[in-house]
Amino acid sequence: MARKIPMAVPDLSGNELRYASEAVASNWISSTGDFLNRFENEFAEACNCDYALGTSSGTTALHLAVSALGLGPGDEVIVPSLTYIATANAVTYCGATPVFVDVDPNTWCLDPTKIEAAITNQTRGILPVHLLGHPADMDPIVNLAVTHGLWIVEDAAEAIFARYKGRLCGSLGNAAAFSFFGNKVLTSGEGGAVSLNDPLLQKRMSMLRGQGMDPNRRYHFPIVGFNYRMTNVAAAILCGQLERRHEMLARRQEIVELYSRELVAIPGIILREDASWATPSPWLACCLVHREQFGCDRDQLAEALRDHGIDSRPLFEPLHQLPPYRQAARERGTRLPVTDRLAGAGLMLPTYPQLTDDDVRAICDCIHETGRVNRGRRQQTSRQHRRAA
Ligand SMILES: *Cc1c(COP(=O)(O)O)cnc(C)c1O
Repeated sequence: MARKIPMAVPDLSGNELRYASEAVASNWISSTGDFLNRFENEFAEACNCDYALGTSSGTTALHLAVSALGLGPGDEVIVPSLTYIATANAVTYCGATPVFVDVDPNTWCLDPTKIEAAITNQTRGILPVHLLGHPADMDPIVNLAVTHGLWIVEDAAEAIFARYKGRLCGSLGNAAAFSFFGNKVLTSGEGGAVSLNDPLLQKRMSMLRGQGMDPNRRYHFPIVGFNYRMTNVAAAILCGQLERRHEMLARRQEIVELYSRELVAIPGIILREDASWATPSPWLACCLVHREQFGCDRDQLAEALRDHGIDSRPLFEPLHQLPPYRQAARERGTRLPVTDRLAGAGLMLPTYPQLTDDDVRAICDCIHETGRVNRGRRQQTSRQHRRAA
């Protein structure tokens, strides 16, 4: 067996170590410092937003955003079920209820035509997720939000620098949350950010992020806040990442395109097509496994890959079926057929800049071979059945 291929490896080969060492050497290792200011300014600019606030994670970025928008007990927020659980948890932390809406079969993101039926008097906002780097169809979502007086928080954790009709994800709603977890396009190990344009909302978020402290009066706390601050060390690493963002994204893009070219020829392997208006962020390659046409199901394929030292992940288990959310979803009569179908068939594949073209080809060959062998086996058994009958 050749070497192991993991799902994700951070690329820290630029100035990351130098900047982190500088932060340590300067003793500015807590949540103030030059790297923090630099990171927040550069990231805001890169997202085409007036402000960015560094946070301790993508999850705390989401919670900070919805809290600053005033989300509270009894409120409802429209969210997709096909996402990482942090999207819905941020709503739950506020004592509010995530209301799950199905995704579009083409974009795999919130289906704008299904949102209106889920809006009630309690609905306060919409939380679209740009899933696996592909933007949600935002124009109709923004129209619905305007019509019904709702806010929008984008979950852009997987869509750093993706574009919708030429506009950057993260600049399309009232606020957006990003994640810099170890497997994301930019990383500081743990970390996150909120991007936004409203100066009053920025002030409120900044206060909530720092325990609710009055910015003009130290140790005076007019409200209950959180400690969701980013450290200067994490910001230093991110400054190094931002310097190399174009080359890192370009290499990821090549990898995702090579996957597409290799996988498209395999029977029963289906790829999401980019919408004409989308410039996705090349986060993770993902394919759907059609059990009948391919020869085995997604989980069996993942096992075959694992036997060859290749890591993979099933697409997210739908949130409306997970223990914290399934009871309430059932009581609401939630039915999300597109989400269920995609979640049962989706497989995410290793994607990171250091992956070589040969690695990608080896992964695709392994998928090809697994399908071929299993289809052969099936034909044999059906022939045996026919003979027996
Ligand atoms: C990664 C991710 C987050 C945030 O994750 P953290 O681990 O808290 O940084 C939120 N939403 C989605 C869709 C994600 O993929």
